Amino acid sequence: MKEQIYNELFQQLDINVAAISGLLVVILKEKFYNLLTIALSALPQNLLERVIDNCSFYMIATSTKGLYLPNTETAEKDLIIFPETLLEDKDGAFTILHEVAHFACGFERIRIDERDEPLDELLDEQRNNEETADALAFRWSKEMKKNSEFSVLKGGAS
Ligand SMILES: [Zn+2]
Repeated sequence: MKEQIYNELFQQLDINVAAISGLLVVILKEKFYNLLTIALSALPQNLLERVIDNCSFYMIATSTKGLYLPNTETAEKDLIIFPETLLEDKDGAFTILHEVAHFACGFERIRIDERDEPLDELLDEQRNNEETADALAFRWSKEMKKNSEFSVLKGGAS
């Protein structure tokens, strides 16, 4: 059943936390894990499997916002990076889904210095990408509310 499959998948999440003290890392990692499982439980199973196989999740003290960094040049995983403030953000789960939507759509980050198109076209493309990611995250976040009975989401939350 969905709940059991998801519980097993969530164990395989690649979660990394770069914080100050060893104890803090453990606590942050636990909280990050809980928020990730709430958000990712909204995804269709085949997408969740792709995310787990292809993405590493990072919480980094110096990051100021969510970031999707596709890793197209090596066989390494794509990076999805969040600031520590994600944990206090009431829309934190939505932010996670927005960055996952960038992965799901295969969006490249727009590197203005590497592209020949006029700047206004690049900005249009970027705006379209952000709107698409928001729309997908919004659709998934409705599933998140339906799934909130999952036992994985209750245990360990503090
Ligand atoms: Zn975005």
